[in-house]
Amino acid sequence: MKNELITRRQAVTGLGVGLAGLAVSPVFGADGVPLTGAAAAALQDPTTKYPRPPFKPQQQPFPGLASKMDPRPDHGEESYKGSGRLAGRKALITGGDSGMGRAAAIAFAREGADVVINYLPAEEEDAKEVIDLITKAGRKGFAIPGDLREESFCKKLVDDSVKRLGGLDIVVSNAARQQTKPSILDISTEDFDATMKTNIYGPFWLLKASIPHLKPGSSIIVTTSEQANDPSPELFDYAQTKAANTSTVRSLAKFLTPKGVRVNGVAPGPIWTPLQVGGGATNEKLKEFGKATPMGRPGQPAELASIYVQLADNSASYSTGQIYGAMGGGGQP
Ligand code: NAD
Ligand code: MG
Repeated sequence: MKNELITRRQAVTGLGVGLAGLAVSPVFGADGVPLTGAAAAALQDPTTKYPRPPFKPQQQPFPGLASKMDPRPDHGEESYKGSGRLAGRKALITGGDSGMGRAAAIAFAREGADVVINYLPAEEEDAKEVIDLITKAGRKGFAIPGDLREESFCKKLVDDSVKRLGGLDIVVSNAARQQTKPSILDISTEDFDATMKTNIYGPFWLLKASIPHLKPGSSIIVTTSEQANDPSPELFDYAQTKAANTSTVRSLAKFLTPKGVRVNGVAPGPIWTPLQVGGGATNEKLKEFGKATPMGRPGQPAELASIYVQLADNSASYSTGQIYGAMGGGGQP
């Protein structure tokens, strides 16, 4: 009989009380015993959880600061709760001052990892907030500013990270440059070069220097984009660097997986970060930012934090060479 298969937990939390009762129902462990102290997680409607367009016009000089955005992005400062998933791990995150990098830094620290963040000197204000949050989580946080377009700096960043952390086992290659231009015809050689240097050469130098330090069980995570597979005409140079980032994940995974190092990518859709207000999008586009997704709004960096955690965690041991999308219902990773 179908009814006999209904467990006590289902009967109490679901079928018996209906939707309205869910938020206040007791939470039960696997054996049906109430879990004392654990509050039931209230359902959150993702469509109304965060600001929806229209957004105010706003532009900042590249690279932009999260602290000056309106509304301020949510990186999980108030919400991310850790449970020891990355205890004792040693992570280096580029672009860790803001956006997805900051969300990953906060989450990693609250999961028990020590974290180095890299960023540009102009972003010191944002970086300081992140180091404070890492320290408040009871972990060590190190700030190493510098420009990833220089090979010598990439090498030094890795060397210094290894020294300060006492090793390295999570590398998040996340920094990027995105500058919107109407088309290929408006992109200067200097612009093209800066995008290639930041988004392709930087990760190449960073990963090449990191790999010799990574022991089996380590994890590389590369932030790519929906632009890798569905390039916009106004992001001609940026989009092809994201295709390169996706290729990096797939190629490196074939090299490193047999050595016990997993390599995965995160492909965001439109996310509310300084990248977009620091020259990455026009005010016209910002006004409607995220509206075209089925979710009808942009994502917030906090909404991607758990993906970075999962990919670094030992529990994802069979996931490598994969791209994980967070695009609000549209696109393909
Ligand atoms: P962000 O501006 O918060 O982060 C990008 C970071 O890159 C900056 O904080 C900066 O520290 C760093 N950076 C740029 N140039 C650098 C250089 N020369 N040297 C060192 N650091 C440099 O924006 P974000 O959106 O969180 O970007 C993070 C990643 O997400 C990027 O790889 C980006 O391509 C990707 N992404 C973003 C979106 C989006 O809509 N925001 C969508 C898809 C993919
Ligand atoms: Mg920044």
